[in-house]
Amino acid sequence: MTLDVTTALRSPGESFPFRHEEVLSPQEVLGEEIRFDEPVVLEGTYTMVDDALLLRGTLYAKAHASCAKCLEPVVHPIAVGIDESLLRTQSAMPEDGAEAWDEQFSFSGSKVEMNPLALTLTMLALPIRFLCGKGCQGMPEGAAGDDEQDSQKDLPQAHPFSALQQLLTKDQEV
Ligand SMILES: [Zn+2]
Repeated sequence: MTLDVTTALRSPGESFPFRHEEVLSPQEVLGEEIRFDEPVVLEGTYTMVDDALLLRGTLYAKAHASCAKCLEPVVHPIAVGIDESLLRTQSAMPEDGAEAWDEQFSFSGSKVEMNPLALTLTMLALPIRFLCGKGCQGMPEGAAGDDEQDSQKDLPQAHPFSALQQLLTKDQEV
């Protein structure tokens, strides 16, 4: 969706508050799908200074993904600062120096397409991997249920090290 910045174009140097919602499509990162079920919200001010529109504020998003350890659904809230300068061009397609233009967001006319900006800011704010909680122990190993009795004397066979010891002994005998 676009953000109408006509007021800023009429009054250069003056800051105007804005609140914009942007729907982001699901993104695949390293084989993991990350969904944004709720629209990303951008709040702040925009100001026209010379040939550039300054966007300042905060982006709020909720990333839906899977825990890297136990695969349980994870909702990761994102709040990241916006401090961008968008160049106002005469046309949507730059005539030359396309490579240089690509490094900066740009717009033409009086409306700014917010999707590339919102997507870039959101993706940069994602964690390297998602975890359901700091204490996540990952997938349960073997049959759980006997864990309540953690006395080694009562259940020697259930202790993980006893099973490991049996494996080691077996290997040594071969
Ligand atoms: Zn987990």
